[in-house]
Amino acid sequence: MLNMTRRAVLGTAAAAAAFGLNSKLEFALPAMAATPLEPAVGHYKYKVGSIEITAVYDGIWRKPHDPAFIKNASIDDTKEALAKAGLTTEFMPIPLTVVVLNVGGKLIMMDAGSGVGQWQTNATHLPANMAAAGIDYKKIDTIMISHFHPDHVWGLMEKGTNAPVFPNAELIVNAYEYNWWTDPGRVDKLAEGRKDAGRRIAANFPKWKNWRLVDDGAQVAPGIQLVSAPGHTPGHSVYLIDAGSEQLMVSADIMYVPALLAPHPEWEGSYDQDGPMAVATRRKLIDRVIADNIKICGSHFPFPGSGTFVKDGNSYGFTPMVQA
Ligand SMILES: [Zn+2]
Repeated sequence: MLNMTRRAVLGTAAAAAAFGLNSKLEFALPAMAATPLEPAVGHYKYKVGSIEITAVYDGIWRKPHDPAFIKNASIDDTKEALAKAGLTTEFMPIPLTVVVLNVGGKLIMMDAGSGVGQWQTNATHLPANMAAAGIDYKKIDTIMISHFHPDHVWGLMEKGTNAPVFPNAELIVNAYEYNWWTDPGRVDKLAEGRKDAGRRIAANFPKWKNWRLVDDGAQVAPGIQLVSAPGHTPGHSVYLIDAGSEQLMVSADIMYVPALLAPHPEWEGSYDQDGPMAVATRRKLIDRVIADNIKICGSHFPFPGSGTFVKDGNSYGFTPMVQA
């Protein structure tokens, strides 16, 4: 209990300092219980330094418990982690949030969402929540992509026809990720469960002319750097945003569901292409976020998808940002 209290207090203080009073943060214990699985309002604006961030909720995968989900943990272990975070143990809750940045009048979306039901039947809300947030989906200038898993890129394609949803937007991705997935012969080498996704990527993405392939460390827009974060996929990347007085790491899937991986950063997910590498990347980048006081958001964090990490021995404490 002492440990929980210390973690919560540290997390709350750090987050309050980080996000400022104007974002009207409220924290509750256990912290994650305060974030409903389906938010009543699926869009939320906050500021990091000079940049306005709009978090937009896509939906949730109510994933049935599966003993293979975490390679080095049992269903009982994962249920225990969910319960400690105040979350349901009836299923594995995997929410999905996309962030849109307004940088100098340009709209930059981080990942494309899951394509209105093309990933999970409960993840259909992105277009409506974008509209409710006042963002014209069709006017997105740039999409910065973390990796080529369906929940992050199926939003680039129309269901059925595979027609590009954003033919005029600049699509930025780590060249390594792009080349890995579109390498001739890749599909045959993929695990069975990934073959359909691999086929769809290989058949469609190379036809498009609006890709911009970049390497690790590239400055992809003013103040925005791509940082290679491999393991989850070979070219998985995060984006580090210098927003003047503050920095933000758009961390995609390095911390996946924090209720599981903050207290157990050593857990290797079945969704990780290379488990040990994903663990090493997770520790390296979360340690950096903590040491350099960088704000962080993640695709599968509780909505609105942002929060604060603190060191807790060999693991981490996590305090989510809660919608005011
Ligand atoms: Zn994901």
